[in-house]
Amino acid sequence: MLLIHCPYCGARPEIEFRYGGEAHIARPSDPSALSDGQWTEFLFLRSNRKGVHAERWRHTHGCGRFFNALRDTVTDKFVTSYKIGDPRPVPDEERR
Ligand SMILES: [Zn+2]
Repeated sequence: MLLIHCPYCGARPEIEFRYGGEAHIARPSDPSALSDGQWTEFLFLRSNRKGVHAERWRHTHGCGRFFNALRDTVTDKFVTSYKIGDPRPVPDEERR
């Protein structure tokens, strides 16, 4: 069973969590100033990268809080998790 570390509760089974999409996607401050293409890009286009990816998760069957996590999409292993609002940590793989 895959364990996911909630920054508020600690390690819990994966069935307690829901994926919430890519992390660090900021809503534009003035959406009416955007073109249709820019709005479409904000709504639908995500990086979908191979390797370590920043994601938003929610501990739905625990504390109910959202948090961010770095997960390697190749190995499906979580590198780390951190609270919403904290900066994205730099994993060892990216420090080289
Ligand atoms: Zn929790």
